[in-house]
Amino acid sequence: MKFASHISELVGGTPLVRLSSVTDGLAATILAKVEYLNPGGSAKDRIALKMIEAAEASGELRPGGTIVEPTSGNTGVGLALVAQRKGYRCVFVCPDKVSADKRDVLRAYGAEVVVTPTSVAPDDPESYYSVSDRLVREIPGAWKPNQYANQNGPASHYESTGPEIWSDTDGLVTHFVAGVGTGGTITGTGRFLREASAGRADLGEVRIVGADPEGSVYSGGTGRPYLVEGVGEDFWPTAYDPAVPHEIVAVSDADSFAMTRRLAREEGLLVGGSCGMAVVAALRLARRLQDEDAVAAARAVIVVLLPDSGRGYMSKIFNDAWMRSYGFLDAGEGVTAGEILR
Ligand code: PMP
Repeated sequence: MKFASHISELVGGTPLVRLSSVTDGLAATILAKVEYLNPGGSAKDRIALKMIEAAEASGELRPGGTIVEPTSGNTGVGLALVAQRKGYRCVFVCPDKVSADKRDVLRAYGAEVVVTPTSVAPDDPESYYSVSDRLVREIPGAWKPNQYANQNGPASHYESTGPEIWSDTDGLVTHFVAGVGTGGTITGTGRFLREASAGRADLGEVRIVGADPEGSVYSGGTGRPYLVEGVGEDFWPTAYDPAVPHEIVAVSDADSFAMTRRLAREEGLLVGGSCGMAVVAALRLARRLQDEDAVAAARAVIVVLLPDSGRGYMSKIFNDAWMRSYGFLDAGEGVTAGEILR
C-alpha cells in the first residue's frame, strides 16, 4: 500500500506543465512549476516545513510551543498544517484589509487569528508588527519564524525546488523565472540552479529572472502601492540575496491580472495574481530571446514558478466588478499576447 502518514509529508515534488496557449508564437519551451499542488496550496508549505524543523533542531521551538507570525495567507496555512502534526499552537496576526475568507481558512486549520488595523503606522502599538512582537514576548514558549529574515526559507528552495527543476528538465533548463516577495524562492532556487549549471559547456549557466510589481523596490521603485499580492516590497528582506538574480522585470497590475485570467481560461491553470505576473515576465523574456537569437530561443527551456491557486482571489481578480472598479477589465479583456508582451 502506498500512503503518507500525514499530509505534511507530501510537501514538494510538484510537477512541471508546458504552457501551450499563452505562448503562441514563441519558440522557447515554457514550463510552469505548479506549486498549488502542495498540500496547503502554495509554495510556502516548503518554507514552513523547513523553518519548523530547523527551529526544533536548534531548540528555538520546543514541545508545546507556540508559533507566532504576521501572515495573512499562504505561509500561515503551511505553518498551520505542519504545526498541527507536531502539536504546536499557532497564532497569526493579520491586518484587517485581509479578507474574512482568508482568516477563516487559517482558523479552519486550527490557528488563532489576531486582527490588527491596517491604517496605523508600523511603530503604532496596534500595528501588525507591534502586535506580533508583543505576542512573542508575552506567550511562553513562543517562536516567530520571521519569513523575511529566516535563512531556512531560501534553504528550503535550495534543497527542494531547485533540485526538482534540475532533475525534471534533465539538466536542460536555461532560465528560471519567479516573483519576488520575501525573495526566498528566487534566492534558494536560483542559487541551486546556478551552481548546478556552472561550467555547463553547451547551454551555459541558468539565467535567473525575478518578476516584480511595478513600483516595488526590487525593480527600482519605492514601494508604491500595487494590487498583486504576495510579491514586491517597500524594504529589502534578508531572505533575498540580490546577487542571485541576473535581472528583474517589472510588470503592471493590469498585465498581471489579464494574464492570470488567461491562464485559467486557456491553460486550465486557476492560479493567483503573482503567477500571472511571473508568466508575463517569462513571455517577455522568451520574446526578447527570439528577437536576439532565434537558434538559442528555440533551445531555451524557461521554467516559471506559479506560487499559489486562484481560489483565494475569486472576489478580486476573477470578479468582473472588482476588476472594472480599477479599470483592469477594459485593459485586460481581449488583451492579446502581443499586447501583454508590448
Ligand atoms: N506569490 C505569492 C502569492 C506569495 O504568497 C509569495 C510569498 N510572499 C510569493 C509569490 C513570493 O515568494 P517569495 O516570498 O519566496 O519571494
